[in-house]
Amino acid sequence: MKVDYYHAKSLIRKGYANLFAWVDASFNPYQGCSHDCKYCDGKAEKYGLHADFGQRVRVKVNAVELLKTYLNKKGFSPDRANPESLTFFISSGACDPYQDVEKEAKITRQLLEVLYQYGMSAHILTKNTLALKDLDILEEMNQKHYAALNFSITLMDDKAQKIFEPGASSTLERLSAIAKVKSKNIPCGVYLCPALPFIGDTAENMLPIYQKSQEINADFVQAWGLTLKPGRNKEEFFKILAQHFPTKLPLYEQLYQNNHKYGQLDEKVYNQMQQIWPEQRGFVYSKQFNLGYAPKRHIPTGRHPFNMKAAEILHKATHCYLLLMQFNLQKKFSKSAYFIENHPHDLGKIDRSTAQKLPIARECHPYLSELFQKKTSLSLQQLEADTYQQLNQKIK
Ligand code: SF4
Repeated sequence: MKVDYYHAKSLIRKGYANLFAWVDASFNPYQGCSHDCKYCDGKAEKYGLHADFGQRVRVKVNAVELLKTYLNKKGFSPDRANPESLTFFISSGACDPYQDVEKEAKITRQLLEVLYQYGMSAHILTKNTLALKDLDILEEMNQKHYAALNFSITLMDDKAQKIFEPGASSTLERLSAIAKVKSKNIPCGVYLCPALPFIGDTAENMLPIYQKSQEINADFVQAWGLTLKPGRNKEEFFKILAQHFPTKLPLYEQLYQNNHKYGQLDEKVYNQMQQIWPEQRGFVYSKQFNLGYAPKRHIPTGRHPFNMKAAEILHKATHCYLLLMQFNLQKKFSKSAYFIENHPHDLGKIDRSTAQKLPIARECHPYLSELFQKKTSLSLQQLEADTYQQLNQKIK
């Protein structure tokens, strides 16, 4: 593995709080990833990273300075209690923060120290148990504000896991790491992402991941399908399939023949193949194993709790409508959720007539009135129950 050190121009990206991660911003301490997952989206040309992504890691030596500059510019200070706590996503989605180079470079650790000093929060996602070295600071951050250390787990079969994620910790190592994180009362869940069609999205693979997650007290399991962007991302994945799963390759060629710019598979083909969407299967299993289907929402200091709770309810309803393939309602709920999420005023304090005039879909109103009156939403509970019932029939 080659390692380069360089001065990055920027570090922080704006984030969007949603069911995947309730965050305000995100950053990556590194570029490239020694885990070299064969499905890795970060390898796509779209992101402009180096072509030897899996064999060369670029270390952002000035990451700490960049983070401090960002926080200072926002008016935060390490010396006083800041009126607001932002949540940062530090994720394996495009360069794992706990890949091998972190043992020496310790940039992730240093960035966590800065977040801690400034009273900020972190939501981490990794495929490497090296993250356990930072349990001490994560425990302190979590006591002060919030810190979650989550793991991505995609395949129970050891052999398949090593083929697709050669440089990452094994699935068993990750499961045992989750138990350790939970023993420190640090929030920790499982991202079953990506669930590889015909390999990882089956009951045979997904069911034990949910079972184990329940046994080790994980907070949630969230399942999503695979995207393969045209170019390097798709070509490398197909090469591995040809080598190790040749009978699956023609199926994938059909599924991804659309060359969708975001790598999404062809829904019609997938449905014709009578496949169960991993998001649907995952929702059913999460209910059966009494696990969340999304991370618990933490309400950071300095925010409007009503807005955040309301947005969470609408995001969850959006997800249910997606699973039920009711796309019109899905769009309406999603738009309303984003509107509420970003509204600068406390919507829990406005009068009824002003509330009626807000650009929120009519269908969302019962959910919000219930939250207002009962601090919870019975409509969401009902929608989740209906979604479970319908999907459970489908996967039986
Ligand atoms: S751990 Fe994440 S960033 Fe690293 S190669 Fe795998 S998918 Fe890509």
